[in-house]
Amino acid sequence: MSAARKTPRTPPRKAARNQPRKTTPVSRARRRPVSRELRAAVCHANIELFRRDLARFTFGNASAIDRELGLIVIKPSGVPYAKLTPSKLVITDLDGAVVEGSLRPSSDVATHVALYRAFPKIGGVVHTHSMFATVFAQACRDIPCLGTTHADFFHGSVPVTAPLSAADIASDYERNTGRAIVRRFQTIDPSTMPAVLVANHASFCWGPTVDAAVENASYLEEVATMAYHTLVLSPHAPPIAAVLLDKHFSRKHGAGAYYGQR
Ligand SMILES: [Zn+2]
Repeated sequence: MSAARKTPRTPPRKAARNQPRKTTPVSRARRRPVSRELRAAVCHANIELFRRDLARFTFGNASAIDRELGLIVIKPSGVPYAKLTPSKLVITDLDGAVVEGSLRPSSDVATHVALYRAFPKIGGVVHTHSMFATVFAQACRDIPCLGTTHADFFHGSVPVTAPLSAADIASDYERNTGRAIVRRFQTIDPSTMPAVLVANHASFCWGPTVDAAVENASYLEEVATMAYHTLVLSPHAPPIAAVLLDKHFSRKHGAGAYYGQR
């Protein structure tokens, strides 16, 4: 102990002289702003939610993350889609704190943050109250996989979260919504199930990019609509056979995918 104390410590400056200066990817990246392309993509994605009738009024929001910067680009709260421009978007850090922009971010930003933190491969998140997906969320029911249209995009039932407790609703509600989603995905791979229903609320979808998240929100609404009508016509319709589910999902996704043009 005392011998170690006598050994003079190498001054940090001297040691650093012979080595390249170490900067973390984040500190290096902080020197550049969020790209115009990412801002444009997020603006376009939000407008698409409205154009595709996935988000009426202002019932939806889309965001993207720059993983290198550790920053999120998200829709401002309450701004009509028709008035949205890239410059109105809000940039937050991974705590949801605003680092750029004069408007308040979407009130759901804490849920987006929770998803980006828990699912490190996703690049975009979309929240909508699209009609039929929301009908299932309000019924607190998974969307069962009843056919190949569903199996092409979602590997199994689209899960619904457990309801939030009164305490979870009373404080930190949006963050707790994110936590409920993450808990539901403890045994589910978010890359093969890019959507969730929040109980009594609506859906969140994600993807490698914000454009992909919008596509997944569109597919979700389509398969929710089909499932609803199938269950009206045949309330006890069985789920698709596992072999057919796997066949259709793997045709489009993963290493062995062969659907479409190369
Ligand atoms: Zn909502």
